[in-house]
Amino acid sequence: MSDRPVSAEALRAAAERLGFLACGVASLEPSRHGDALERWLRAGYAGTMRYLHRQARKRKHPADIAPGATVAVVLLDNYLPRTASAAEPEPGSRRVKVAKYARGGDYHLVLQRRLGLLAAWLREQGATVALTWADAGPVPERELAQRAGLGWIGKNTMLIRPDAGSFCLIGTVFTDLALEPTPGADYDRCGSCTRCLDACPTQAFVEPRLLDATRCISYLTIESRRPIPAALADRLEGWGFGCDICNDVCPWNMRFAEPSGVPEYQDRGAIADEDPGFFDRLDEAEFIRRFGDTPLERPGLAGMRRNWAAAFNSLEELA
Ligand code: SF4
Ligand code: SF4
Repeated sequence: MSDRPVSAEALRAAAERLGFLACGVASLEPSRHGDALERWLRAGYAGTMRYLHRQARKRKHPADIAPGATVAVVLLDNYLPRTASAAEPEPGSRRVKVAKYARGGDYHLVLQRRLGLLAAWLREQGATVALTWADAGPVPERELAQRAGLGWIGKNTMLIRPDAGSFCLIGTVFTDLALEPTPGADYDRCGSCTRCLDACPTQAFVEPRLLDATRCISYLTIESRRPIPAALADRLEGWGFGCDICNDVCPWNMRFAEPSGVPEYQDRGAIADEDPGFFDRLDEAEFIRRFGDTPLERPGLAGMRRNWAAAFNSLEELA
């Protein structure tokens, strides 16, 4: 490791050049939410996401994630597409909805590529460890982001930045470069607001900041390989991949969210959201050709057929 100091300004400038919205540095002391994570897993709220059980030990002890690393550089990446608000269907329309982060290229790849460039920059400054995590792996991203002063964790469990809202991905670079941790965000600006809790159509919040993922539309349409339970399928409100409701209703997004300048997050217009038979008519090869480099690849063609049918059916409930 180099002893050459790197200033916070130089780091922020490097992150800004790569198009990140914000950047901070977090220490790697144990998580303050370790017991809550254990209780959450024991309650079964992770559903079939067994990897969260396997990752728990490292999530509780971020210093074990990357041997040799002394801090995590935490980056926020705005993914809000320019067309997002115009693309929201009106009540009663026959269009289904896809979460805003999934209308362009696969955000893991988009984020990973630029995190890799930041890691290269850190190595140029003298780092011998610079390992990247792009919204994946055993990283407690939101807690590290709060620790790095980038925002607070809202009642909807999202990281909210006071001047930008929550339409952001969180990436990290674990490094041994001599970087001073930035002051943490020791505030909570949700106040008495409960809009996100009240708006959730499947009542997935057990209480503020406690999500039963098995009831969340994002889990049901992306993570779960099973049929969507009938009682919840009726409540999809037209969401065919993910759900933005608890972000959309947040006053911090309404007031401060701005479109992303990252080209790969822009809406490709590749999804026929008025066509109930769109995925039924694709075969596997065509699905991969069109969506293999997008988030829709995760549920795959079978998952998207399931989602599309359920989402269009749920529009009847709204009519
Ligand atoms: S993403 Fe949608 S379903 Fe999931 S908690 Fe938020 S509002 Fe509820
Ligand atoms: S909608 Fe209200 S309660 Fe929910 S995260 Fe936003 S400010 Fe907090």
